[in-house]
Amino acid sequence: MAGKLGVYICTGCGIGEAVDGEKLAKVATSECKAASCRTHPALCGAEGCAQIRQDLAGGAVDTVVVAACSPRFKTEAFSLNHGTVVERVNLREHVAWCHAPQDENTQMLAEDYLRMGVARARKTEPLEPLADEISRALLVIGGGVTGITAALEAAAAGYSVFLVEKEENLGGAAARCKRQTPAEPPYTAVNGDGLTARMEAVLYHPRIQVFCSARVVRIEGQPGMFDVTLSIEAGEHQIRAGAIVVATGWKPYDVSRLVHLGYGVSPDVISNLEFERMAAAGRIARPSNGQRAESILFVQCAGSRDPDHLPYCSSICCMETLKQITYIREQDPEAQVYVVYKDVRTPGQYERFYRAVQDQALNFFTKGEVTAVKPGAGGRLTVAVEHTLLGESIQLETDLVVLATGMVPNGSEQILNLTYRQGPELPVISGGFPDSHFVCFPYETRRTGIYAAGAARAPMDAAQARQDAMGAALKAIQCVELAAQGRAVHPRGGDLSYPSFFLQRCTQCKRCTEECPFGALDEDAKGTPKPNPYRCRRCGVCLGACPERIVSFKNYSVDMIASMIKAIEVPEEDEDKPRVLALVCENDAYPAMDLAGLKRRRYDPSVRVVPLRCLGSLNIVWIADALSRGLDGVILVGCKYGDDYQCHFTKGSELAQRRLENVKETLQRLQLESERLQLTQLAINEWEQLPQVFDAFVERIRKLGPNPYKGF
Ligand code: SF4
Ligand code: SF4
Repeated sequence: MAGKLGVYICTGCGIGEAVDGEKLAKVATSECKAASCRTHPALCGAEGCAQIRQDLAGGAVDTVVVAACSPRFKTEAFSLNHGTVVERVNLREHVAWCHAPQDENTQMLAEDYLRMGVARARKTEPLEPLADEISRALLVIGGGVTGITAALEAAAAGYSVFLVEKEENLGGAAARCKRQTPAEPPYTAVNGDGLTARMEAVLYHPRIQVFCSARVVRIEGQPGMFDVTLSIEAGEHQIRAGAIVVATGWKPYDVSRLVHLGYGVSPDVISNLEFERMAAAGRIARPSNGQRAESILFVQCAGSRDPDHLPYCSSICCMETLKQITYIREQDPEAQVYVVYKDVRTPGQYERFYRAVQDQALNFFTKGEVTAVKPGAGGRLTVAVEHTLLGESIQLETDLVVLATGMVPNGSEQILNLTYRQGPELPVISGGFPDSHFVCFPYETRRTGIYAAGAARAPMDAAQARQDAMGAALKAIQCVELAAQGRAVHPRGGDLSYPSFFLQRCTQCKRCTEECPFGALDEDAKGTPKPNPYRCRRCGVCLGACPERIVSFKNYSVDMIASMIKAIEVPEEDEDKPRVLALVCENDAYPAMDLAGLKRRRYDPSVRVVPLRCLGSLNIVWIADALSRGLDGVILVGCKYGDDYQCHFTKGSELAQRRLENVKETLQRLQLESERLQLTQLAINEWEQLPQVFDAFVERIRKLGPNPYKGF
C-alpha cells in the first residue's frame, strides 16, 4: 500500500508536445496526493532513473508511478528493488502517439490514465517470493529416442535424472527397427543414428538413474516437489522430482481400421511395422505362402491425412517407406517396387534420400489415391488407384501390399496418474496430443512443470524428436530453477505474485477449482480449494471465477481494478463526452494497442484501457461498477478462442463471453441496453483493426446516448 507516493512524468518521445505536463503534475499532487511529482525530458535515461533511485533511497517516496512509455518497454530501466511498487502509466503509445496533440480530450485521457495508475499503485503490495525446498531432479518418462536424449542433455547440464521405461530395455520404437532413416550427410543412404551408443551412455551416466520394466503409478505435489511413486520389479519406489518430461512416444495407427485398403482381407496386405519386423527377422516374403514377392506396392498416407482416420500428416511414413525399399533392394534387386502417394513429404535434406531411392531401377513412384485393394487372379492382389497425374483410374497387380500407416501418441493411456482434482492425465486435443499453445509454448502442457516432447507431443521423426527432447529438457530445467526462486515459470515467467484465498468466506461453490485451466487447485472433501501455488500460472482465472471475490494477488485484485475504474472521471451528460471502458488482454490486445500507437494510428480518445492478465480473469463486478458509475459502455478485447485458440491461458475470452451472458441480467435490472457491452476477439497481428474496433464501438455508444446513471 502506497505511503509516500512519487509520480514521475516523462515529457520525452513526444509526450511533452501532446499533453500539458504541468497540469498532469497538478493532478498528481493535488488530486492524487502524491508526496512528490517530478517531470523529466527523458526519464529512462541515466539521470532520470538516478533521480527516482535517489528519492527512494532518501525515503522521500516508497511507491513509484512512472508516467512514460508502455510498460512493455524500458523494463530494465524502471526495475527497482523487489520491495518497491512501481506502476507504469502508458502516456506514449496509448496517448501521445495515437491522439491529437494539445487537445482537450487527449489531456483528459492522460489525466485519467494517471489517476488510474495511482489507484493501481495504491492497491499494490510489495511481492514476496514463495520459499520452499525445491528438488532440481528431473523425471523423464519414456526411454526411447526422446527420453534418452532429454535425460542425457539434462544430465550434461548438471541435473540429476530419473529415467522410467515401461519395457525391459531402453530404445523404444527406434530400437525395434532394422535400421534408421538417414540422419547425417550426405542423407542418401540409411545409417546408424548413434542410438546404441546413447543408450549405453544413459545406463552408465552417474547422474541418471534408469528404471526399466517400471511405471509411474502416482504423482502428487507440484513443480519443484513432485512426489512420484514408481512400480518397479521389486515393488514400489518413491522419488521426488522438480519437473517431468513426458517422452512416451507413439504407437502405430490401428491398421485393422483400414479394411478398405485390404488389411484383413488378405494376409499379403501388411502394415509398415509388420514389414519392418519381417525385414529385421531376415527375409521379406509373402505371408500367405512364404514365397518371394516379385512385386511390392507401398500405399502412402494409409490412414493419415484422411478425415475419417488421422487428419494430420504422420511425418515419418514417407521416409520409412524409402528406407524399407532399400531393404528390398538389398535382398532382391529384381523385385518391382511401386509407391502410390498423395505427396512425397521429404523435407530439407531428406529430399536427397528420396532422389537416391527414386533413381534406382525398378522403383516406380505414382501419384494417386488407393481406393481399394482386393484379391486378384493367381493369388495376387489388385490395387485400384484414382486421381493419378494422368487423370485416369488404373489397376495394378502386385504380390505384397505395405500400408504406410501413421502414428498416434501413447499419451492417452494411464501414464502420469496425477492426483489432481482435474484428472490423472494431461488434457489433450484431437488426435490425443497434449493440449498446449503450440505457437508460443510448444513443450508446455496444461499441467505446469510437465513437458511433452517427441512423438508424444506431435508427429515427428527421430531426428526431430532429439531436438524436441533438448527443448523440453531445457524447459524442465527452467521450471526447477524458477521454482527455486519462487517465480512463475510461464507464460508470466519470473512473476513473483500468486493468488491468495480468503477461505473464511469461501462458499465451496467449486467454480475456481473447476475453471483453473492448469489444475492448480485441488479441493478438500467439502469443496474448499487447496491451492498448489507452484502449479499456478498466475492467470487470475480463479479471481474472475469467484463470486465471493475472495481470490486476489498482491498486485492484481478485484478491488484494484474496481479502484482503477472508479478513478476515471465521468463528464456530465451534457458535455457530449462519452466514456468507454476497455478491458483488454495484456498478452495480445495490449501489445496490439502499442503497435497501433507506434504506427501513429488514431482512435477515439473516449476509450479508457485497463489491461487484464487474461480476459478469463474478468470479474463481472467490474462491469456492474463501470455501468453503475455512468461509464457509457464496456468493450472487452481478448484472444481468439475455439480449437485454434490463441489465449496464453487456454480459454480466457471464452470464459469471459460466458460470464458476459450472466451480466445481461444485471443490465436488465439496471434497465440498460445490452449493446453497451461487447467482446471482440483479436490476435496481435490484427492490430491494424483495433482503432476501427474502438471507433465503431464508441460510435454505437454515441447512438445509444449517455448512460442514464451518469452523475449518481
Ligand atoms: S491464477 Fe490461474 S493458474 Fe493460478 S490458481 Fe488461479 S486459475 Fe489456476
Ligand atoms: S470460487 Fe470462491 S467461493 Fe467458490 S470455491 Fe473458489 S474460493 Fe470458494
